[in-house]
Amino acid sequence: MHRENEMVFNNCTEGIIITDHNQVIVRVNPGFTQITGYDSAEAIGKKPSFLKSHRHDDMFYQQIQNALNNDGKWQGEIWNRRKNGEIYSQWLTVFHCKDTGDADRYIGIFTDLTGYISNDSPGRNYAYYDSLTGLPNRMLLYDRLTYMLNLARRRKGIMGILQLDLNRFKIINDTLGYVFGDQLLQNVAQRLKACTREVDSVFRLGDDGFAVLLDDILHPQDAARVAKRILTACSQPFLIGNKELFITVSIGVSLFPGDGDHFELLLKNAETAMLRAKELGISNYQHYMPSMNTQAFEQLTLEHNLQKALQKKQFLVFYQPIIDLNTREIVGAEALVRWNHPDLGMISPIQFIPLAEEIGLIIPIGEWVLETACRQMRLWQDQFGKAFVISVNLSARQFQQQDLVASIDRTLKHTRFDARNLKLEITESIGMKNPEQTIMTLRQLKDMGALFAIDDFGTGYSSLSYLNRFPIDTLKIDRSFVMEMNPTTPESAIIDAIIAMAHSLSLNVIAEGVETPDQADYLLRNGCEQVQGFYFSRPVNAEEFGQLLKRPPWSKKETK
Ligand code: C2E
Ligand code: CA
Repeated sequence: MHRENEMVFNNCTEGIIITDHNQVIVRVNPGFTQITGYDSAEAIGKKPSFLKSHRHDDMFYQQIQNALNNDGKWQGEIWNRRKNGEIYSQWLTVFHCKDTGDADRYIGIFTDLTGYISNDSPGRNYAYYDSLTGLPNRMLLYDRLTYMLNLARRRKGIMGILQLDLNRFKIINDTLGYVFGDQLLQNVAQRLKACTREVDSVFRLGDDGFAVLLDDILHPQDAARVAKRILTACSQPFLIGNKELFITVSIGVSLFPGDGDHFELLLKNAETAMLRAKELGISNYQHYMPSMNTQAFEQLTLEHNLQKALQKKQFLVFYQPIIDLNTREIVGAEALVRWNHPDLGMISPIQFIPLAEEIGLIIPIGEWVLETACRQMRLWQDQFGKAFVISVNLSARQFQQQDLVASIDRTLKHTRFDARNLKLEITESIGMKNPEQTIMTLRQLKDMGALFAIDDFGTGYSSLSYLNRFPIDTLKIDRSFVMEMNPTTPESAIIDAIIAMAHSLSLNVIAEGVETPDQADYLLRNGCEQVQGFYFSRPVNAEEFGQLLKRPPWSKKETK
């Protein structure tokens, strides 16, 4: 052994056992003696099985042997017995250092988990394990991560963390019940375990969050491979009771040493990447990139431009038709703002509305959209002689505005637009801050004649029974649910549940994001009366929308 190796061997607090090719111990370090109570003279010449606690069956040891034969390595938790008879748990990594004849060696390195896991429990210490899924929890994650990072540092290896979240788990609980939600989590835990190698560890971080530690991977691509495997496994429907459920998951990946050299940073970066994946709303994984943290800087320039956009008349309103599924006629339109930036082109509201909300600009922008849409609607009403409903989005921030009711009233009078043809789209989060005040504002607007729709239903955190306190007319099913409807198995438990619940509360239902005739047919069969989506039309400018108003109703067989 080199001098440095010798120093590590003699001074580290982990136990180290070296055996020959017959797995007979040839050396142990002082850390081994410290943990087991046996000195080196007592251990040398024996097989490591002399430490057996008899808590594991033969199959367990056979699996370790198989992993060593196949992968040259095994890692996991194992219960052993100390010299004083005490049974304890250790975290063990064994390598097979293949060589010829006498030079062939097995090396075992282990940490005593006493203190982390209590010895007097027959199996596990429940403080460190999640009782629902049986997976180790966040506390054990910190511990193992610290331990694995030390190993990776020593070996100059790569290790990875995948942080995984189920999208919209809350709505599954709310619509299908906690028992169902719990079973889903257990099923997800099983699939995660099936997707990872023996040496990897899957943890439940709480609610619908999981983490996977990938120890000693060879290439960063290996982490991506595991992420893809998990996405594929979770894309298969989950059969719970007699219901088939499709879910989407978001995964964030961070790697040691590239994305951080201590566990807090690695976890934070994996989470940042996971949140980025979540923004896309579909099953996907994202590798952490430092640019995810430099976004703040980009926002500053955007903010500067946004301040001027209104006075420079750079905003436009697009209109997307809302179709009645029975008659296939246009029964309404949603007004959707666009920013026509001189250098960057058409910017989606997804990119600038959150910023406008943050800096308060949403108030003048919102007023402008409402005024433009009402004025345009009057023109169409005069031209086509029929009235239909215009839906305008109202953000939560606008509800904190003292004179919201007065401002809307002014705009309606000013454009001579009938409030009964105005539908305000609000999100579930609207009443989070000040529910009583929100309900009062909604009532005042309702008294004026305005209608209300709950937008993106299912993506927020409130239950339908809570929303029922609001004077709502319509529920808009978020497009991610429609996207996940599988045409080959038209079982879509969540959509069915939302439609049934909405109808029981006498709400009208609009499904967003309908892109295929199959989706439209499925929704019609299941009692959803109105839809909006690219299958019928993308949001278009006022001139193009005027053309749509002239066309005959869409035929049922029409494809795009
Ligand atoms: P939203 O209210 O959920 O609007 C529907 C979004 O779904 C629109 O995106 C629309 O283009 C898109 N969409 C419609 N049909 C389909 C489809 O079949 N497939 C797919 N993939 N997408 C479809 P857009 O126009 O980018 O608007 C994004 C969000 O920005 C809106 O989501 C809304 O929350 C917000 N927004 C837009 N205009 C305004 C506004 O004037 N005020 C406020 N406060 N928010 C607005
Ligand atoms: Ca909307």
